[in-house]
Amino acid sequence: MTVLCLIETGAGRITDPSARALAVAARLADSAGQDVAVAWFGGPDAVDAGPLATAGAWIGYAIESDRLTGYAPQAWARALAGLAADPPGGTGPASAVLAAATDHGAEVLAHLGALTGMPLAANCVSAARPSDGAVRVVRQRWAGLVLEEAVIEAPMALLTVAADAVPGDAVPGDAAPGGTAPGGAGAGLTVHGFRPELAESDLTVLAATAQQRREGVSLGTARVVVGGGRGVGGPDGFAPLEELAGLLGAAVGVSRVVTSEGWRPHRQQVGQTGTKIAPDLYLACGISGAIQHMAGCQGAKTIVAINTDPGAPIMAKADYAVVGDLHEVIPALVEAIRARRG
Ligand SMILES: Cc1cc2nc3c(=O)[nH]c(=O)nc-3n(C[C@H](O)[C@H](O)[C@H](O)COP(=O)(O)OP(=O)(O)OC[C@H]3O[C@@H](n4cnc5c(N)ncnc54)[C@H](O)[C@@H]3O)c2cc1C
Repeated sequence: MTVLCLIETGAGRITDPSARALAVAARLADSAGQDVAVAWFGGPDAVDAGPLATAGAWIGYAIESDRLTGYAPQAWARALAGLAADPPGGTGPASAVLAAATDHGAEVLAHLGALTGMPLAANCVSAARPSDGAVRVVRQRWAGLVLEEAVIEAPMALLTVAADAVPGDAVPGDAAPGGTAPGGAGAGLTVHGFRPELAESDLTVLAATAQQRREGVSLGTARVVVGGGRGVGGPDGFAPLEELAGLLGAAVGVSRVVTSEGWRPHRQQVGQTGTKIAPDLYLACGISGAIQHMAGCQGAKTIVAINTDPGAPIMAKADYAVVGDLHEVIPALVEAIRARRG
């Protein structure tokens, strides 16, 4: 049996949230004495196999279909259901299926739960299968404010993995939690092709283009995020933040006030009702640090806050706090970075 992990890819590499999901999958497989396998949508060469093997995955499934010309949640779930039940290569059915708790991962696993009738635990931070056979998970509830221990007793457990489940520097190239590949270290990943059987109704929803990819760095996977809140002052105030983000190769994220005011689109919202981010650096500008906002950025490795109010809640939660007007601090930062780069 295997633990199967659905991975999302970008520019030929596993995304950070998927790498975290894979790290949790590898530990679950290790605890159960099983192998971890990865599945992705695309051809055998659609993803760099090196980091996958390093993270403990020895078996890969490249899911391809002429009818899958974009993201199709139910079709993806149908494909995973078929793959989990009868994977090529003779490993036997999957005992668990994991995916990152991204928009796509959460949606696909919800469909998979509906198709298979198997239980789904969302936003897990760890999972193990001790000797009694049940899967024990720790998962985030209340937007990460509470950690719940849960036991899943089912032939196949479905788990989504929280964006901040594993520290950013522990994925994907850390020591392989699943041990050494059969055939020795460096034996690498064996990739099997898988052609799913899809019904017409599985393709009712099919997203052929991805808005965020067209616009550059995606918020959910960015290593650096420049965040703006009400303190930015209005839609025009985001130009310096965009400039800084461009220099840092960062994504722009915003608070809910900003999206509610219509200054920026909802897809840029960070927080409980927005995207959960786990970048190396989160630069929060003019954001007070409400609990619902922090729920979305607490996975950031380093938080730097820029705020005129030293008593704003975010100042106590940040690793570094700059007391100042963002309209002065951001242009000064941009100038300093430009000067340094000549
Ligand atoms: C059910 C629910 C879900 C929610 N989900 C989310 C969510 O997903 N994400 C989210 O963000 N919020 C969410 N909220 C809203 C949240 O409670 C806050 O209202 C919101 O995060 C505040 O946004 P803000 O920090 O931009 O604005 P404010 O709280 O108004 O803070 C603005 C900050 O900017 C500072 N400032 C002002 N001018 C400047 C300047 N020139 N330079 C520097 N600093 C300046 C101020 O000192 C202040 O700290 C949710 C609320 C509820 C009830």
